[in-house]
Amino acid sequence: MTAHSDTHIVGWEDHPFYQNCLNLIEAAGEQIDLDPNVFQRLSKPRRVLYVSIPVRMDDGTIEVFDGFRVQHNTTLGPAKGGIRYHPEVNLAETTALSMLMTFKNALVKLPLGGAKGGIRCDPSVMSRREKQSLTRRYTSEIFMLIGPDRDIPAPDVGTDAQTMAWVMDTYSAQVGYAVPGVVTGKPIEIGGSLGRVDATGRGVVYTIIEAAKRLNMDLDGNTTVAVQGFGNVGYYSAKIINSLGCKVVAITDVSGGIYKSDGINIQAAKDWLDKNRTFDGFPECDKISNAELLELKVDILIPAALSNQITKANADKVKCRILAEGANGPTTIEANQILNEKGVFTIPDILANSGGVIVSYFEWVQGQQSFFWSEKDVNNKLWEIISNAFGRVYDFHQAKKIDMRLSAFAVSIEHLSKAMLYRGFFP
Ligand code: GLU
Repeated sequence: MTAHSDTHIVGWEDHPFYQNCLNLIEAAGEQIDLDPNVFQRLSKPRRVLYVSIPVRMDDGTIEVFDGFRVQHNTTLGPAKGGIRYHPEVNLAETTALSMLMTFKNALVKLPLGGAKGGIRCDPSVMSRREKQSLTRRYTSEIFMLIGPDRDIPAPDVGTDAQTMAWVMDTYSAQVGYAVPGVVTGKPIEIGGSLGRVDATGRGVVYTIIEAAKRLNMDLDGNTTVAVQGFGNVGYYSAKIINSLGCKVVAITDVSGGIYKSDGINIQAAKDWLDKNRTFDGFPECDKISNAELLELKVDILIPAALSNQITKANADKVKCRILAEGANGPTTIEANQILNEKGVFTIPDILANSGGVIVSYFEWVQGQQSFFWSEKDVNNKLWEIISNAFGRVYDFHQAKKIDMRLSAFAVSIEHLSKAMLYRGFFP
């Protein structure tokens, strides 16, 4: 199967991340005899919106930012996916990330499609007021696409509950009443769900527990863990796996990080980073770079930063037993092949980090019903959905003798393609 994208119309065709996704759909499709018409449909996003966003900066000048919202697929329900603020955001990456959302949501059988948004900006150097203006103007520009029944944004790299509150307020101001269901990952006070803030990290750990069971591995004080990225996903993954007794020996953020062979105090490291914005000077630890962290001999490696971190250049040096992908797209297809040959057990992104969108779904459901659940209920239901999805992916991987990534995409696309064929193609 080849996608009909031989001409350069929109610019994502040649992007390695998009190509990676396309190759995965193609290879997974072969495992399930995917209808070639469905493959053609899935090879392109449904809708793409580019917006330019003028913001008056604190120095009085106007800066114009580039933003996107991409809806890849809406067969199973409203489009769903985060909004990313990062200097490297572009249309091709946003498109690839929207595709991953489609397959993530279908894999865990949520009644949701896949989308992603982003603004090319550096939130770390912007004031609160600048970020608020940026968010509100972006929301008003993508207003025509979003809504609780259409497309529901959430936090991603560089955005958080406060960002979602501004999106919700701007949307609500336009329609004239409060619409909590237009976003997820909101503050609890305006309709957020208990358990949403730590859901992605919690899901990462739940999938590691499932993997360890299958691999006959104990998770205890002798288990070593390295976490790349100390944003929302990295921090909560580290904290929750540490609460099981495992030793987190290394953590990094953008500017590098720290190593300690008998385990880092995660809360102290988080407090330090919040205060100093760098791990530099954190007591009793050695310095470590992002590249070194990926090559550590540890039981569990959690890349929880950006895409394209484990490539053919360094995959051979990765020495973990379990790779649990907290980030979206951290491993290239060539690297995946090398890891397979080395016997690394990979829990792929669309499974490992699906806890975030699963609890987003719970938040949306609770909002629609105006009936809110306890944190215990949220976590139990998260466990049910993610461990069930893990089981389906693992069983397919065993039955077909294919790796976990291919298996996850195959299981997901099998479900989605049935739905697409039932609905048919309009007109
Ligand atoms: N941005 C997160 C992800 O990549 C969460 C998306 C959501 O909750 O809609 O999965």
